Amino acid sequence: MVNVRVSFSRLGWSYIFFKGLLYDLPGIELVDPPLVNTDIVSEGVKNSPEFVCFPFKFILGEMINLYHNYDVKDFMMIADHGPCRAGMYGVVQKRILKNIGLKDVRMFYLHQDDFRNLEWLGVFPKLEKRTGEKFSEYKIIRNTFLFLAKAYFVERITHIEGLVRCREINKSMTTKVVHTLMNLLDNENNLMKLSNFDRTIDEHFRKIPIDKEMEPLRVCYTGEIQVMLEKWVNYDLMGELGVMGIEVHKQYDVFDWVLYKLNASKRRRRLERKAKEYIPMDIGGEAVWNMGSYLESQEKGFDGFVHIFPFTCMPEISLMGMLEAEKNMDKFYMPHIHISLDGSSGFEGIRTRIEAFHDLMVGNKKSNPIFRDAKYVVPDEIKNIYFEPKSDFEYFVSSIEKPMSMLLTMLKPTKKLDLGFTIKNGLEFLSRNLSFDINSLFNL
Ligand code: SF4
Repeated sequence: MVNVRVSFSRLGWSYIFFKGLLYDLPGIELVDPPLVNTDIVSEGVKNSPEFVCFPFKFILGEMINLYHNYDVKDFMMIADHGPCRAGMYGVVQKRILKNIGLKDVRMFYLHQDDFRNLEWLGVFPKLEKRTGEKFSEYKIIRNTFLFLAKAYFVERITHIEGLVRCREINKSMTTKVVHTLMNLLDNENNLMKLSNFDRTIDEHFRKIPIDKEMEPLRVCYTGEIQVMLEKWVNYDLMGELGVMGIEVHKQYDVFDWVLYKLNASKRRRRLERKAKEYIPMDIGGEAVWNMGSYLESQEKGFDGFVHIFPFTCMPEISLMGMLEAEKNMDKFYMPHIHISLDGSSGFEGIRTRIEAFHDLMVGNKKSNPIFRDAKYVVPDEIKNIYFEPKSDFEYFVSSIEKPMSMLLTMLKPTKKLDLGFTIKNGLEFLSRNLSFDINSLFNL
């Protein structure tokens, strides 16, 4: 019997893998969060503290909308202990929702300080208590893999989208293919079939006729992750850049973040090393990795850096300050544009700035030797889809190679794991059906 309607913030395509995490659990009915729109944002802005981060506001708006129009009272949110404010959103949002009269709202927190310590498993016993049902361990393990696989594919699809759109001959075909793929991904919950989804992605993108000779401008597209994910909030800037004929290298998605929280992201470690001279520690947002991405793209001869973030986002504003400081001009010579977004941003203003930025990059490409002489390299994804399609064996090898490489990275940790806490969380989860409280053992 279905008795609890659960939902979460849409965050672009992220709802697809959050649905995977709670797929087919007894007593839970998953509600697809609707597309964000002006009314949702206005409602969130109206009920939020003025200077809180913009993502807080639109997520709150989504919750109010889900409560009133979709009968959702139970929400899943991430939570952690800093350094950013995002980890505290859920707690404050719950309080605001209660204050505005939505007294029966419940929040289920997915603890993300360090996914290795298994604290995140705590969300399941809480949901079991709420639904009055027991979830089998098999389903929880299966759903964890569904979450990871779907998050990986969402990241891959959107990354390829940024590389292909500038080359498409028939306008908007990339968008159609992305929507088709996301639909397929959303409806596929068989892990065996998903293991072959890389090939499905390549096959669908291969159907798009492209200009194979093109050597487009290349930009590193990055910023604060929540505004990067939510297209309504960022006016689909990535799509706009693609339509202008720019190859967009999107830097982050949730999968990469999850890998980081598992201490399994080789890439983030590399970027941290690059950024160390300027930002020696995690100061919140994506600032440290964005600095690394800037430096790496500059080394690769990219033409520009597009950086988007919410108005009042301290970490990303700090990064902007460093890139714009006069004393750093020689070190940061690749053009960069910084776009801050809030509920009252207007698309036309952003488009004018992006067009001017485009002209600047075109001018550099023509006359500035640093950019004119930079060698264009066709991205591997484009090569594999259009020029040198992978064989069955290569797909098979890469489906094993990628998880193995993540596992090996995890085995060489850079962050210490709190072993006692991990064992406690694991035992607490496994003993949730027992009559005695495992916590009492740890409190002896
Ligand atoms: S990164 Fe910026 S917008 Fe996101 S939670 Fe932190 S301060 Fe707020």
